[in-house]
Amino acid sequence: MIQSVYRNRILRLKKRLSSESFESVLISSKANCRYLSGFTGSNGYLLITEKEDLLFTDFRYVEQAKKECLGFETVRIAEGYSALTSCVSDMKLGVIGFEPSHISFLEYQRLRSELPNKVKLLPIQGIVEDIRAIKDQEEVVFIKEAVSLADKVLQEAVPLVRPGVSENFIANHIEGSLRDMGAEGLAFDTIVGTGVNAALPHHRADETIIKEGDPVVIDMGALYKGYRSDLTRTFCATTLGRNTSKFEEIYGIVLYAQLAAARAAKPGMMSAALDGIARAAIEKEGYGDNFGHGLGHGVGLEIHEKPMVVPASADTIEVGSVFTIEPGIYLPEWGGVRIEDIVLMKEGGPEVLTRSPK
Ligand code: ZN
Ligand code: ZN
Repeated sequence: MIQSVYRNRILRLKKRLSSESFESVLISSKANCRYLSGFTGSNGYLLITEKEDLLFTDFRYVEQAKKECLGFETVRIAEGYSALTSCVSDMKLGVIGFEPSHISFLEYQRLRSELPNKVKLLPIQGIVEDIRAIKDQEEVVFIKEAVSLADKVLQEAVPLVRPGVSENFIANHIEGSLRDMGAEGLAFDTIVGTGVNAALPHHRADETIIKEGDPVVIDMGALYKGYRSDLTRTFCATTLGRNTSKFEEIYGIVLYAQLAAARAAKPGMMSAALDGIARAAIEKEGYGDNFGHGLGHGVGLEIHEKPMVVPASADTIEVGSVFTIEPGIYLPEWGGVRIEDIVLMKEGGPEVLTRSPK
């Protein structure tokens, strides 16, 4: 018997499959396999048909799969696709959907050459990602825990953000504390950027030493039961007890844009429109060219998932969407400011999950 959390997800998938007239789908994305079955092994794929749910994995994970994926039929694989091919023949499948973004060209060629010619392989793009864009209760619980771990660890690290300390020192402290506090790992490599490094949105921490008055961007997240959090705060490193006026000016604009977007977010809204609200606030102050990335992204099993909150996005924000709101301003000669929270969209508007002060 499939556990109810997975059964609900698979039912949503089967509904989508039948509405698009697919009788089966091959799921090869690791995150999508885990989402649908609970399987955490590093090698395996699912075949979901109208009637059957099969998990294919190699001998290393067969026992694990039987425990993790109750209700799935576990099929042991070796090299190639002979086990899949014989199941497909037994079930007399004529059409198999596959995930074009999650299978390499080489694997596709192998699969095509091993399946009988009469079996059609058709791409079906983003079907599980669309379902994952709306979180269920269990996912929200895990994300909230990942957010809370990041909040606690960042608060502990704040006193370290002072002139004379290196980016690496702060990043190492954060990463160690995350594990000590019970995170399974990092949501992504911790970003600590000071001075001009703060102007590089994806700068990795290095040996750069923080100087008096520097802006310091810290972007970090925890991994908890497979789910991620994502948190950015920016500080002005000072021993004088006063932020620089440049920092106050830029921080004020970014915070205003961040709060304006959080206030405006509503279920059913196009995520591109939400991006536009923060962008307009920053443009109005003359820094439009210095906000070079999207406003945010969905977070869950992966650090970037639907809904993508960027100008060209076709995604919609729905009740149950979990995503970041993270405007920034980056000035190459000075540094940058980014403020990032995670929100959960509810009927009446977003619940801000992040608790770190800003
Ligand atoms: Zn981030
Ligand atoms: Zn982010």
